[in-house]
Amino acid sequence: MLRTLLLYLSGRDFPKRLLLRSALGRKVASRFIAGETLDDAIRVVRRLNAEGFDVTLDYLGESVLDPAAAEEATRVYLNILDRIASEKLRSHISIKLTQLGLDIDEAQAERNLRALWERAAALRTFVRIDMESSTHTDATLRVFRAAQASPEVLGIVIQAYLYRSETDIAELMGCGARIRLCKGAYKEPPEIAFPRKVDVDANFVKLMENLLASGHYHAIATHDPKMVAATLEFARARGIAAERFEFQMLYGIGRRMQRELLQKGYRVRIYVPYGKQWYSYFMRRLAERPANLLFLLKNLVRG
Ligand SMILES: Cc1cc2nc3c(=O)[nH]c(=O)nc-3n(C[C@H](O)[C@H](O)[C@H](O)COP(=O)(O)OP(=O)(O)OC[C@H]3O[C@@H](n4cnc5c(N)ncnc54)[C@H](O)[C@@H]3O)c2cc1C
Repeated sequence: MLRTLLLYLSGRDFPKRLLLRSALGRKVASRFIAGETLDDAIRVVRRLNAEGFDVTLDYLGESVLDPAAAEEATRVYLNILDRIASEKLRSHISIKLTQLGLDIDEAQAERNLRALWERAAALRTFVRIDMESSTHTDATLRVFRAAQASPEVLGIVIQAYLYRSETDIAELMGCGARIRLCKGAYKEPPEIAFPRKVDVDANFVKLMENLLASGHYHAIATHDPKMVAATLEFARARGIAAERFEFQMLYGIGRRMQRELLQKGYRVRIYVPYGKQWYSYFMRRLAERPANLLFLLKNLVRG
């Protein structure tokens, strides 16, 4: 119920204006967001790199309906890629196609994406296309395939909560795609997604095994200790070396597990979001864990 409500509110304007204006909202959100400027984010990347983590940077924004805003987001990302290269940071970028114009015109999103992965290729880094709600799954996969970029440069995300994901993974692996597997963060109907966590988890394990067994380099993105343990166990049983895949976790979540995995010799990439458009991202993080909402409410009461 609460998850549904928070995901509903994540798309509404009134709570957005309220929270974005409040200093307290910004303070609580700062647990999950590196800051509002690129300089803030770069400071976090430097620190994480020094600790041994790899990073993927997300310039927050989605559901863009103004073509000029989509072009602007693309310019920001080109600048991020240049900063990553000039400062020799170990960081990729994660983008949302609706931020590059997918809801306006698929061709515009394709063009903007091309500008990014071509720059990433020249600078020897990597672009990951985040997966958004199911209304965008087909278009996202179409744009990804149309790019025909090398798997070394462009990758995609698959969500374990969707029934279709096993088939999508099988097709994507046919062209050597590098996949980030996550559970899925949006509100989806039971006609297309597993409604029960236990089924999402079981599918996650199954898909993780398919990915690791493929021999390609994939990313397992979760903070769930059970999913992490299943991944470690499968890799051990199959003799899959630690450098053949990576774990990914969100900035500010599961910090102890992030460090423990690193200490055991596994690769861990931290997803670091920054920017002023943090509202929807923040609400999805609240929806994942009601305790986060209690923390926000406690602070609100305290003033
Ligand atoms: C690197 C990365 C990239 C992602 N990219 C996408 C994407 O492109 N598309 C998409 O739909 N989703 C994406 N997600 C989100 C993902 O789909 C899940 O919603 C999210 O990771 C929570 O699922 P979980 O695997 O951590 O397991 P859960 O079962 O939800 O959580 C397991 C445990 O992790 C901790 N935890 C999880 N979430 C939180 C939180 N918000 N705050 C505090 N603790 C928490 C809690 O201890 C919880 O018990 C991404 C996640 C990661 C880590």
